[in-house]
Amino acid sequence: MTKLNVTLIPCYKDNYSYIIQSNRTCLIIDACETKPLLDFFEAQQLTPTAILTTHHHWDHVGGNIDLQQKFKIPIYGNKYDKDRIPGLTHEIDIQREEKILIDSIPIHILFAPGHTTQHLLYHFKVANLLFTGDAFFSCGCGRLFEGTYHQLYESVQKIAQLPTNTQIYFGHEYSLKNAEFALSLEPGNLDLKNRRDELLSKSNTPSSPTTLDLELKINPFLRAKYLAKSVENANRQQPQGEFETFVAIRKLRDTF
Ligand code: ZN
Ligand code: FE
Repeated sequence: MTKLNVTLIPCYKDNYSYIIQSNRTCLIIDACETKPLLDFFEAQQLTPTAILTTHHHWDHVGGNIDLQQKFKIPIYGNKYDKDRIPGLTHEIDIQREEKILIDSIPIHILFAPGHTTQHLLYHFKVANLLFTGDAFFSCGCGRLFEGTYHQLYESVQKIAQLPTNTQIYFGHEYSLKNAEFALSLEPGNLDLKNRRDELLSKSNTPSSPTTLDLELKINPFLRAKYLAKSVENANRQQPQGEFETFVAIRKLRDTF
């Protein structure tokens, strides 16, 4: 198994950028903000090789232009976001490329629309690492901004199909609030209670990465099939099937 070293860089209020290192290669997943990233590279005396962007939102691309100008590096992202991702040089065509190669490291691309219509996930299968941007969080998933509920549901299902030992690195520290919300639907879920208590006791420590194995036990968006009754109690209306339950959970979380 290829050794990839991941460093989490906190940006803004609750964003995470990630640095992935392997030998000479040093990739940035979502160059959220210039200063914390520049500080890191300076302190480590490192030079980044490329930036991989999950989606165009400002809090995920805020450092693109500065870092590109300083280090002359390519920026990868969805082809259909070329007018929205600053400095995009490598347009990923998800219809034709299911993976890209950077310095012989294979990176699989998962198309995960919903939060935005062109959201991508980066999957380093060789090390079981998944970078989900704002498509998926611990105990949660991205708010629907541009896509349809159906797209969001399918995107979350795609993640659910990956190996359960996949390490999931997400884009925002929303875990505690997400866990509180999840508990409102499943007050008897012991794994969820333990997770919430752990998050409370380490409230100043990043909770990323999580694992798919854990998320299958605690994330309400992966557990819609068990939550019809909870949604019915909250809404006084019975959802019809898993998808409708998922939609209801997303709507309840929006106003939690
Ligand atoms: Zn976003
Ligand atoms: Fe974001």
